[in-house]
Amino acid sequence: MPLLTKSIKGTQDVLPQESHKWRYLEQSALEVAENFGFREVRTPVFEHTELFQRGVGDTTDVVQKEMYTFLDKGERSITLRPEGTAGVVRSFLEHGLFNEPMPQKLCYLTSCYRYEKPQAGRLREFHQFGVECFGTADPAADAEIIALAKQYFDFLGVRDLRLELNSIGCKECRKDYHKALHDYFSARKDKLCPTCVERLDRNPMRILDCKVPACGEIAADAPKVTDYLCDDCRAHFEQVQKYLGAMDIPFTVNPSIVRGLDYYSRTVFEFVSSSIGAQGTVCGGGRYDGLAEELGGPHTPALGFALGLERLMLLMESQGLPFPEAETCSLYIASMGEAAAQKAAELVCALRRDGIHAEFDVVGRSVKAQMKFANKLGADFTLVLGDSELESGKAVLKNMKSGETTDVELASFPGDFMRISISESLKTLEDLGVDTNIDLNALFYNND
Ligand code: ATP
Ligand code: MG
Repeated sequence: MPLLTKSIKGTQDVLPQESHKWRYLEQSALEVAENFGFREVRTPVFEHTELFQRGVGDTTDVVQKEMYTFLDKGERSITLRPEGTAGVVRSFLEHGLFNEPMPQKLCYLTSCYRYEKPQAGRLREFHQFGVECFGTADPAADAEIIALAKQYFDFLGVRDLRLELNSIGCKECRKDYHKALHDYFSARKDKLCPTCVERLDRNPMRILDCKVPACGEIAADAPKVTDYLCDDCRAHFEQVQKYLGAMDIPFTVNPSIVRGLDYYSRTVFEFVSSSIGAQGTVCGGGRYDGLAEELGGPHTPALGFALGLERLMLLMESQGLPFPEAETCSLYIASMGEAAAQKAAELVCALRRDGIHAEFDVVGRSVKAQMKFANKLGADFTLVLGDSELESGKAVLKNMKSGETTDVELASFPGDFMRISISESLKTLEDLGVDTNIDLNALFYNND
């Protein structure tokens, strides 16, 4: 039955040897976001289809071609979220967060679903880290979320990412721009792809975002949105740039960035890499001052970004960046005989209650096979229990890296083991030149 052992095209499994890397990306994203005052929000994987049609915009590729939409058993049209913003805005409105003090800063880690042609950096199920900031039109907020993305990349050590910045103005200044684009593209209509011909009357800015090479060539010489900004939008854009300057964040203005989603206004930006092939945009974001109203809520200026974690992972791997090592077993207790096996179970349980990764034999292996397995696990220490250890209440703890052995009392075991393993870790830190002036005896044996 080959179907049952094959995952769906464009989806990926994360196996145990990789999952700690994902956890690292996710945890550090949340930590950086928290330092910027963003709190995590979790929304459902599916929503009413209309939310995305309205929220993402029905002239976008995402809505026109890429959504996983189906009727549920109640005949409602449901869509797996293709992106995170629409659901977060829906949640913000539904729960009246607009009544809370502004700005409301939310962040999320989420899976997204798009029916696309799978290739490197382009999947049908992918994951995003995103932030949304509600209730401020101030340019300082635009710079703040850009700084957040930048700090995350810097924390991970990612190099060679370009920040490309643009302003696509507001509804008012875009009227003239749309007309200019319409005139420009109409004169070249016969060279555009059929989708772009359709876009011509509905939303000519989408043509600037088309991936078909012929359309891209025509778009390169199209009128630039920055030449059409009204005074307010121009001043806003200049302020964003000043704040970025104050935060020492380099950028280039790229008037051809319009972003794929309909709801953006004013600032739009992308972090782009040249080292992971065609799918080089790792993070994209901007303002969407009109979206809350579009979805039936009060006028709420807002902005955010979404960062593709698979592309970030590809980039980090292509740059050979380090990930923390996966956590391994601290202590493996091998045993011989039934009584010793039960003692091993008891000690391992006590260690685990103290937050230590400890293991014992649950397969029924011989002592020799247990030790071999402990090696495979990469256990830091091992301990062998047999009848004589049970009788004497003492056993030999072996450091698997140095080969050193230490006698330990089983009665004072969890505390003793922690003291020994922490002093080993401190030794490693001292080797690295860290000052570790800690009195371990006081830490473990003084109750006052
Ligand atoms: P692209 O132009 O590459 O199609 P997009 O404009 O559709 O990107 P957004 O909707 O802005 O992308 O999503 C934000 C980020 O999510 C992207 O910059 C990218 O890192 C990631 N992303 C988008 N689509 C995919 C996908 N199909 N597979 C993997 N990552 C994706
Ligand atoms: Mg896309």
